[in-house]
Amino acid sequence: MRKISKIGVLTSGGDAPGMNPCIRAVVRTALYNGLEVVGIRQGYKGLIDNDMYEMDRRSVSNILNLGGTILKTARCLPFKTDEGMEQAYQHAKARGIDALVVIGGDGTFTGALRFSRKYPDIAVMGVPGTIDNDLCGSTYTLGFDTATNTVIQAIDKIRDTADAHDRLFFIEVMGRDSGAIALRAGISCGAEAILLPERATAIDDLIANLKEGHMNKKSSSIVIVAEGDKNGGVYGVAKAVQEEVKNYDIKVTILGHLQRGGAPSSFDRILGSRLGFAAVNALIAGESQKMVGLQANHILMTDLEAALNHHEFKLEEDLLQMMDILSI
Ligand code: ATP
Repeated sequence: MRKISKIGVLTSGGDAPGMNPCIRAVVRTALYNGLEVVGIRQGYKGLIDNDMYEMDRRSVSNILNLGGTILKTARCLPFKTDEGMEQAYQHAKARGIDALVVIGGDGTFTGALRFSRKYPDIAVMGVPGTIDNDLCGSTYTLGFDTATNTVIQAIDKIRDTADAHDRLFFIEVMGRDSGAIALRAGISCGAEAILLPERATAIDDLIANLKEGHMNKKSSSIVIVAEGDKNGGVYGVAKAVQEEVKNYDIKVTILGHLQRGGAPSSFDRILGSRLGFAAVNALIAGESQKMVGLQANHILMTDLEAALNHHEFKLEEDLLQMMDILSI
């Protein structure tokens, strides 16, 4: 069986609340098991630039409550090239790293899988860390819960002003090609409509719904538009609706990067801790090219390749049905 002695840990892609609790769990679980840990700064960039440092228990003190990531993150294009990967490998070997924990989203895992296939003597274990919640093999990804709660708080505030003025608000939320945040936030805030990339909404149907809502004496309406929605973006949708719905004063809000920040929720702190703990234990058990994830409240492993299979990823059918029925 593969035996490891030094783990490198990195965060890559978009930052997500919960990454810090995960880093802490990786470091302390590894040290507890007699392994050494190297922190790699700015994702794969730190491997290529040899920007790394030895971590001890104290280097992860007081970080459970911090959003972002103490290791920093980056989008690193050179890692996609053979030369970049070779440089990363040489630096990792020179440090004595024989296993990597990579915390990130699908791009991060794509890179990890390529790297590990090219250089199988370094084991890799993925931890799903992205607010987008778009990976197969984990019902929840790190940061999704916190980001959704942040969105809910913001929309509740917008609802107050919408109600006071009889306004119709179009609110764009993050998620890249995933409508997961939009769907959950929409149900939680009683949005009148939720536009998702996973399910096409005809603008005519949206307009008909909003007119019906007005006739039913709704004093305000909130329409959530996921950033990946295919109707031409939140401004395009708002403009098309304004031409047909004259009774409302229409406003557009893009929540933007505030969705990424803030202290991780209890859920993300526990999830980060569980996943970090499990990732190190899986590496110690000789595993590689896998992702640890949460399934039915158990931590299970999925092949990285399967985790990347977007076609298998689906939003929950009952939530989709509910969103139509409850918002009428
Ligand atoms: P998020 O879902 O939050 O955006 P992500 O992990 O999907 O996170 P990306 O920017 O897509 O974020 O990927 C992170 C990094 O992974 C890239 O900057 C790059 O260094 C590496 N990466 C992505 N795709 C590949 C690839 N095909 N080959 C090698 N490395 C890759």
